Amino acid sequence: MPPPPVSLVPPDHLDPRIRILRCGSIVDTFALVTDRYLVIIDTMVSEDTMLAGIQLLADQGLLDRPLLVLNTHGDWDHVCGNGIFCREDAPYPAPVIGSEVATELMLSPDASTFLDALKAEHPGEFDTANIWPPTIRFREYLELDCGDLSLEFVPTPGHRPGHSALWIPELRLLFAGDAAESPLPFVEDPASIPVLRASFERMLDLDPDVVLYCHAPGRTDPGAIRENIAYFDELERRCRSFLAAGNRAPGHDDLATALDWPLEKAVSSAALSSSQQPEELFYQTAHQTAIRSMLAWLKGTATE
Ligand SMILES: [Zn+2]
Repeated sequence: MPPPPVSLVPPDHLDPRIRILRCGSIVDTFALVTDRYLVIIDTMVSEDTMLAGIQLLADQGLLDRPLLVLNTHGDWDHVCGNGIFCREDAPYPAPVIGSEVATELMLSPDASTFLDALKAEHPGEFDTANIWPPTIRFREYLELDCGDLSLEFVPTPGHRPGHSALWIPELRLLFAGDAAESPLPFVEDPASIPVLRASFERMLDLDPDVVLYCHAPGRTDPGAIRENIAYFDELERRCRSFLAAGNRAPGHDDLATALDWPLEKAVSSAALSSSQQPEELFYQTAHQTAIRSMLAWLKGTATE
């Protein structure tokens, strides 16, 4: 299979300084045209795809100012194009900025094992997916003065430790990264359940007018964050009554059936239908994983 196609999605009613770069049906990343920099927010799934994205921006004459590259977190589909900016002989040398914790996760043995397996499973598709960590790392907060606009990294862990959303106060615009997505964000560590839910609140507390997600194509409103909150509220309610009835988490995998809460019932059909076929399978897994994590978290807090 060839690398996934990259396209520029018409920004519709968004501020004209924003570009949405869509990488197949896998991920949306973004570019922001500011007075000082062309800011790239996440670098897609490989160097090939990021190069295709940069070419589309070049075609619009946007490479007339310094590049600045930001990583919301270290998951492969957000950073595997970093190399074109920061590897040796990078064709578009630029600072790549990410959190210290996200960088650690990118450099973990688990991350490279996962990437090797993915490349082996999909020959041709992700051959140029490589791990090049951010060259500028910050601990928690960072603010960038881009001239006409400023950009603030907002710590929003839960989906992954060290995850940051990006906030542009002048536009009341939030790039949520993967801290919220449609139909639901992926969380696999029981201890991350309350952390993720706190991040939803943190994002809504900013009172954004526009929210752009990496995995909610077409959504530009805070509604997906609210839907994620409702999902986890209902998940907690169902898991509590499941445990209160004396049930124990079954050994088999189908927790959604045990809770009588299939994905189709847990999220809106609109949210499901907007995610394409392979993603639906992904979200079935995400749903099962969320249930397992919530049950484990509730049992953990009950014994504290
Ligand atoms: Zn992610």
